[in-house]
Order: sequence, then structure tokens, then C-alpha cells
Amino acid sequence: MTVKPILTEPNKILRQISKPVEHVSKEEQILMDDMLETMYAANGIGLAAIQIGVPKRIIVMDLSRNEETKEPRYFVNPVIQNKNSEKATYEEGCLSVPNQFAEIDRPSTCVVEYLDYYGKKQILNAKGLLATCIQHEMDHLEGILFIDYLSKLKKTIILKKLSKKKSNQIVI
Ligand code: ZN
Repeated sequence: MTVKPILTEPNKILRQISKPVEHVSKEEQILMDDMLETMYAANGIGLAAIQIGVPKRIIVMDLSRNEETKEPRYFVNPVIQNKNSEKATYEEGCLSVPNQFAEIDRPSTCVVEYLDYYGKKQILNAKGLLATCIQHEMDHLEGILFIDYLSKLKKTIILKKLSKKKSNQIVI
């Protein structure tokens, strides 16, 4: 398993629409392993393949926040079948939008159909943090970031902060 660099906004790749996976093969499994390792290394709870520059409809998540008993989840080609009209609000952050947080409203529950690590079809009834997290990650597959839900002013402020940080970075 390899820890990959995580792309951060602004970056055009993050705005790409990811493509469906035709078949879950060893290549996808290696990608999922790397994504999980990358996510753990960055202390994240979810990661979409596009965040490491791979435009495939693949997401990994682990909400356990427990070093001892990890609960990795893998979603290939996830599709939301049903969303609750009721909303839930969480303060969201994103590994691709470092150190920025904002309250975002999303449907409080959702039903997701997807393929698992072995390419087997699964259905998940998600609620609470799980529902929010999967919707956040699925947005990545469409090139959407949580900051897109904010007012223009708030988004501009965040983007300015991120750009400033980038211009100070050096790569050796
Ligand atoms: Zn994210």
C-alpha cells in the first residue's frame, strides 16, 4: 500500500467528472488499498479516487476513528437511490480543501447502491455522519466540493486563503 499525494483546491483535476468502473479488478483493489492508506495517513474519514488524481468512481471511508478496530468501507460506482427530504447539518471539512470548515446541509438519510471491494453489488441505508460523508464523497465524483454550496463571498475568501498557501509552498 502506498500513500499518495492528495490534490488540493484550486486544481482542475478535482473538477473532473469521474468515470464508472467497468470491472473491479486487481488494479482497482490496489487503488482502493492506496486510497485507504492515503486517507489514514491524512487523518481523513473519506477519500474519492479523484483526490489522488484518478478519475474513477471509487470512494473509501472509515468512520470508526479508532486505531485498533478499523472499519474500512469501499464504494465502487455508488448511486444514490433515495434521499430523505429532511436535512442534517454537519460542519464539513475536506482533505482537498485543507484547514477550512463550513456547515453544510444535506439530506439526513440516503440509500446507496454500489459495488464493494470484490465487485459485489451492495445496498446501504445510510444515516447520520455516514449519510453526510457518502454524499460529500459522491460529490467529488461529479467534480463538486463542499465549498461550492457556500455563498460566493465565503467561497472567494476560502479560495483566496488556499491560493495564498499554495504560492508559499515549495517543492524540493
Ligand atoms: Zn472531500
